[in-house]
Amino acid sequence: MDVTILISHPEYLLLVLAPLFVLCMVAEWYWGDRCQHLAESARYKPTEVLCNFVLAGMHQLSDLLTGLLISQLYLMLFAWRLFEIEMNVFSFVALVLAQDFCYYWFHRASHRVRWMWAAHVVHHSSENMNFSTAFRQSLMYPLAGMWLFWLPLVIIGFDPKWVVFVVLLNLGLQFFVHTQAIKSLGPLEWLFNTPSHHRVHHGRNPQYIDKNYAGVFIIWDKLFGSFEKEQ
Ligand SMILES: [Zn+2]
Ligand SMILES: [Zn+2]
Repeated sequence: MDVTILISHPEYLLLVLAPLFVLCMVAEWYWGDRCQHLAESARYKPTEVLCNFVLAGMHQLSDLLTGLLISQLYLMLFAWRLFEIEMNVFSFVALVLAQDFCYYWFHRASHRVRWMWAAHVVHHSSENMNFSTAFRQSLMYPLAGMWLFWLPLVIIGFDPKWVVFVVLLNLGLQFFVHTQAIKSLGPLEWLFNTPSHHRVHHGRNPQYIDKNYAGVFIIWDKLFGSFEKEQ
């Protein structure tokens, strides 16, 4: 597949990843539900799964509609960019890191600022957790101001198309942390946000409240004092 198509149409990225998402959910359902290897809270309850998918659809629709407006603002600000950044392997890695840093603060604000929690609470409104929980998203994110957190990247000089691509890549990768099927990823736990770290984030245990805001890298939580290990 030609990757440049994904850069000029970043909204296709989640469609490209969709077969992988479906495969993971079917495998988790078979192993967890049919073979009963997973706890009750990881099971696929039809009404809840349907709710998760409907929420995902509404979230995508609101993102697409408001994206038309927000992309114009991004392009306007990009015209006033501070630096000329040519995309290559190094600038791509820098963008992935910078966007993940911004995501950390977006997610932290989503839990600490009531206006933003009003949108993000949807993601935390289930008592269960499996891959389908990743689709449980709010259509109110554009109103809550999610797009504001990526503005610094555009002003620095990263092409808005690349910024949106990396934002969606980050969200796509976060699908894989919504599972109770994987206990630990060994040494990767140190650097990356993993199912174990994200179970803490979704936990209701007092020590887990407002912890592990990470998107892709867990280092931000460790740096800014919001890390909690799963017990
Ligand atoms: Zn959260
Ligand atoms: Zn989550």
